[in-house]
Amino acid sequence: MTFTSSTRFALSSAPPSAEHDLLDVTAHHEAGHAMAAVMRGGSSLRGVTIDVDRPGHGLTLLRTAPWDTGFMAYAGPWAEARFVWGNRPLDAHNDNDCTFSDCVVGVLLHQSDDAAMWGAWHHEPAQESVRQAMADLGMTFAPEEVWDRELELVWPEIQTLAQRIRAGESVTDTEVRDLYEATLLDVAN
Ligand SMILES: [Zn+2]
Repeated sequence: MTFTSSTRFALSSAPPSAEHDLLDVTAHHEAGHAMAAVMRGGSSLRGVTIDVDRPGHGLTLLRTAPWDTGFMAYAGPWAEARFVWGNRPLDAHNDNDCTFSDCVVGVLLHQSDDAAMWGAWHHEPAQESVRQAMADLGMTFAPEEVWDRELELVWPEIQTLAQRIRAGESVTDTEVRDLYEATLLDVAN
């Protein structure tokens, strides 16, 4: 690695799904990672690919600061679960009586790279001490709840990105950043 303040990660996926086209599922998964890469200071997107000959195989390369690795890992499974969730209200239950956050965790557990990265972040001493400090104050520390809201705000843009990835178009850091910044302007106006 040629840099000191951030770490490079490759997040891959091989999601199983019966109802949905695997390429669509994979494209949304990778689009979630790609969008996350421009949503934190010091992080950047290096590239996104999906292998159309091997549905389910996607790869997003990104750089991120160590304290943001949990979010980066979470965003792919979040987008995959969000795609499968469809138009149901987010506070509803699906046909298997699962909540949306159950579904995100379900996807995460099937993605060994994402789960490993998420788990390493979650068990980092710094994260454990934040949770303990909050618990001492009688508060729970659930960054996922904030991440869910952040990602839902950019869900239309993640879908746009997914369509490009699905079509085999290359997606650059600049393009994704432009999409994200346009969303922020919309929210501000
Ligand atoms: Zn992933």
